[in-house]
Amino acid sequence: MGFEEERKRMVEIQLRGRNIKDEKVLRAMERVPRHKFVEKDCQKDAYADRPLPIGEGQTISQPYMVALMTQCLELKGNEKVLEIGTGSGYQAAILAELAKEVYSVERTESLSRRATKNLQELGYTNIKLKIGDGTKGWEEHAPYESIMVTAGSPDIPQVLVEQLSEGGQMVIPVGGSYSQELVVLRKRKGKVEKKDICGCVFVPLIGEFGWKE
Ligand code: SAM
Repeated sequence: MGFEEERKRMVEIQLRGRNIKDEKVLRAMERVPRHKFVEKDCQKDAYADRPLPIGEGQTISQPYMVALMTQCLELKGNEKVLEIGTGSGYQAAILAELAKEVYSVERTESLSRRATKNLQELGYTNIKLKIGDGTKGWEEHAPYESIMVTAGSPDIPQVLVEQLSEGGQMVIPVGGSYSQELVVLRKRKGKVEKKDICGCVFVPLIGEFGWKE
C-alpha cells in the first residue's frame, strides 16, 4: 500500500471512525504527507495509530491527537494561530491548511531547523518559526485567535492567555509530567471559560512558565 492510500485509511479508521467530524480537519489530515515529517527508518509507521520519535527525545503526536486538538480550535480560515512546540512541523502544516497564518515556537534548535526544511520543501508560505521559550508566547505577533500548546504544562501560562484575542480559543494539555488533561479554554470579556476534553500524555513543556529543566 502506498503512503497516499495509508493516509486515506488513517483518516477513515483512526479519525472519522472516532469522534473527528470536522470535514475540513479530515481533509487537511488527508492532504498533509505525515511521512515527510518523520525520519526515514520510521516512515513505514508514519500512518500508524501512535506517536513516533522525531529525535532529541521528542515525539510527533498520534494522528488522532493532532486531529482532535485541531478540531477543538474550530478554525474558519482567517485566523492567526500560535503553536507552542513545533517539533517536526507536522501540526504546523495541518494548522496552515486551515488558518491564515501560523506562528510556531520550538525550544530545541535542531528540531526547528529540520521543521523549517520540511515545511519549505512542501511549499508552505504562511508559517513562521522561531527558536525560543514558547511558555512566553510570541509577543510580536499577538493577539492570536487560536493558540495550541503541544507539550504538557503544569498550569495554563498566563502570558499565553494574555496573547489570546477576545473570543479566542486555546487548546493545551495541563497536569502532571506523565499524564495530563487536554483542556480547551475560551477568553470571553477578559474571563476564561474552561472545558476538559480527555486525558492525554505529552512530553513536558519546559520553560519559564512551564516545567523547570
Ligand atoms: N507539534 C509537534 C509536531 O507536530 O511534530 C510535536 C510536538 S512534541 C509532542 C512537543 C515539542 O514541544 C517538542 O519538540 C519540545 O521540544 C517542545 N517544547 C517543550 N517545551 C517548549 C517550550 N517551552 N517552548 C517551545 N517548545 C517547547
